[in-house]
Amino acid sequence: MTTKPAAAAARATVYGYPRQGQDRELKKAIEGYWKGRVDADALRATAADLRRTNWHQLAEAGIDEVPTGDFSYYDHVLDTTVMVGAIPERHREAVAADPLAGYFAMARGTQEVAPLEMTKWFDTNYHYLVPELGPETEFVADSAKQVAELREALALGLTARPVLVGPVTYLLLAKPAPGVAADFEPLTLLDRLLPVYAQVLADLRAAGAEWVQVDEPALVQDRTPAELNAAGRAYRDLGCLTDRPKLLVASYFDRLGDALPVLAKARVEGLALDFTDAAAGNLDALAAVGGLPGKRLVAGVVSGRNIWVNDLGASLATLGTLLGLADRVDVAASCSLLHVPLDASVERDIEPQILRWLAFARQKTAEVVTLARGLRHGTDAVSAELAANRADLASRATSPITRDPAVRARAAAVTDADARRSQTYPERTAAQRAHLGLPLLPTTTIGSFPQTGELRTARAALRAGRIDTAGYEERVKAEIQEVVSFQEKTGIDVLVHGEPERNDMVQYFAEQLTGYLATRHGWVQSYGTRYVRPPVLAGDISRPEPMTVRWTTYAQSLTDRPVKGMLTGPVTMLAWSFVRDDQPLGETARQVALALRDEVNDLEAAGTSVIQVDEPALRETLPLRAADRPGYLAWATEAFRLTTAGVRPDTQIHTHMCYAEFGDIVQAIDDLDADVISLEAARSHMQVARELAAHGYPREAGPGVYDIHSPRVPSTEEAAQLLRTGLAAIPAKRLWVNPDCGLKTRGWPETRSSLENLVTAARRVRAEL
Ligand code: GLN
Ligand code: ZN
Repeated sequence: MTTKPAAAAARATVYGYPRQGQDRELKKAIEGYWKGRVDADALRATAADLRRTNWHQLAEAGIDEVPTGDFSYYDHVLDTTVMVGAIPERHREAVAADPLAGYFAMARGTQEVAPLEMTKWFDTNYHYLVPELGPETEFVADSAKQVAELREALALGLTARPVLVGPVTYLLLAKPAPGVAADFEPLTLLDRLLPVYAQVLADLRAAGAEWVQVDEPALVQDRTPAELNAAGRAYRDLGCLTDRPKLLVASYFDRLGDALPVLAKARVEGLALDFTDAAAGNLDALAAVGGLPGKRLVAGVVSGRNIWVNDLGASLATLGTLLGLADRVDVAASCSLLHVPLDASVERDIEPQILRWLAFARQKTAEVVTLARGLRHGTDAVSAELAANRADLASRATSPITRDPAVRARAAAVTDADARRSQTYPERTAAQRAHLGLPLLPTTTIGSFPQTGELRTARAALRAGRIDTAGYEERVKAEIQEVVSFQEKTGIDVLVHGEPERNDMVQYFAEQLTGYLATRHGWVQSYGTRYVRPPVLAGDISRPEPMTVRWTTYAQSLTDRPVKGMLTGPVTMLAWSFVRDDQPLGETARQVALALRDEVNDLEAAGTSVIQVDEPALRETLPLRAADRPGYLAWATEAFRLTTAGVRPDTQIHTHMCYAEFGDIVQAIDDLDADVISLEAARSHMQVARELAAHGYPREAGPGVYDIHSPRVPSTEEAAQLLRTGLAAIPAKRLWVNPDCGLKTRGWPETRSSLENLVTAARRVRAEL
């Protein structure tokens, strides 16, 4: 073993850094440009400043090799679309006329042209713009952005490594362009795409790149032998090029599995692998293929996705093992730091002791640097850092925040019976019918009503101390009155209070649950200029007092019709937060579920007969590898049942999910044992109803008949027609009538007309039964 020289060369690097800047300067500049307040040159200057600041920050922290090309005005997959010249036909003119304006048109659409579709980047909450390809697609290399950003970094005297989305991942993430057969496989374009990558690589080398990183995260998903073959071919062809930089093929988010031997054999000079728990199995698999003799291994040992301080001792042990498996081992975060906030040290509302448990991008960078130093010079060289880290980990492990004996005892005592309702679904339905007395095709909404200007002003005033809590609550009550009276007047059967008190469906609950932390500056890019501040599941979760009961009961006091209680489900509470890494997700979910269960039971005790528990994230949290899915679905569905199973048989439990494709989880949805589910369906013409029927889904369902994603008002006949389509799949006694999703992003005028039409449509179709 040549551990000494390998260790002596160890470098610190990362694959990408948050783009927005300390005060989200990028968001402000881009949105200013959209509004015409910032000109293109000023936007470019802000962007160049931010890149420079980031590189300096990385270099000053001790990062030996900085990434370039990871910066983006909107999305790095869209940047790749530009790099390979795959601009959709409908956008070509605009891009040719003004590349920057055309770029944003692809991202956001214009009055005349639709944008590219947006979807989630693997199992993160980052969204990318889906490439649209077809048999006619011709690629042309445009390496300008990559080359320019590399030159900027080199001009600062830094060692820089461009980062590209790899050709295989790019094609696997693409979809058939509009008008192209749905079964067209973009991967068949690989041979046409590789010469473009060859050109970009040659250009980067000419500009001074010694190494280029090519990201292939799609290879951590289950792949067919044909897809793995394609990956092998891609890196054989790129490997054989003579005029190219050294290639580092990177993967992250999960284990490489069958793709590992393919990449290990490829003629590239290095691999970057994820060695965090998310990718457990990579280390053994790497040993099993005999390591990477002659290659550089970049070891992602610091999670790039969670916000917890690293266990430096454990990481050094992993790195030590890896030293024997490659020619040279470098240290990195497991994926781009894009997925975490920038800097934990600016948080002021988090107790200093707890703040020490957290690591955002800057802190993670420091960890990577420490680990590289430890690898180079031995643990003695970093003994102070290791000691401080051990103290932080110990404080976290023993803190009353992470160990609340009452919460733990309760979770440990959960039995099967707790997660099972006292009667089966068919038995319950009779009791609910008698109790609620609803008509056939009952009408309802998903929960939120338009968040009005007055409400937003009141919330801002409360934050700024211009009004007190009582003043704010008066505003909330006024909104509830308005929402309830509108629904009564319109003739909706199951009412909601409209959720005016909620800023966000996860944050609102997180703020009231013990064990959750909120950050003040913890912004993470969701898509484009949209940034979110996910709360942190930091400790054991409990509910000190009811969270929603008084608003729901207030709404109920205004009407004789049933008002539906409205909660966010445990899986979604996890999915849109930073989760604990010190216990299985299922345990955290169970704690959240028990806290929500108390809320559900309190709602029922306060007279609420219908309670909706939203789980829009159930499907998006599905693990990347099929083998991991049954385990996930088991705890996820148990958590939902635990939340809802404590109610009487005649209390009706609803759930809501907003996605149209869920064919692969119908069984899991059934396992939730909810009484009624509402789903997005308007845009797919009730496809959802047919899928439910095809899978024999036995429960009541409300496939949406009103697309709330646009201000367009559906006509009565249009909604009626969708209902008739729904009736062809779901019998009348199990069909509900509702919009696709909540109305909080809509304005009142279109909401009013749309819901009036929806109720009239229900009446019309009822009369036809
Ligand atoms: N009840 C929530 C609302 O109406 C549901 C939101 C969602 O599904 N994302 O806003
Ligand atoms: Zn929804």
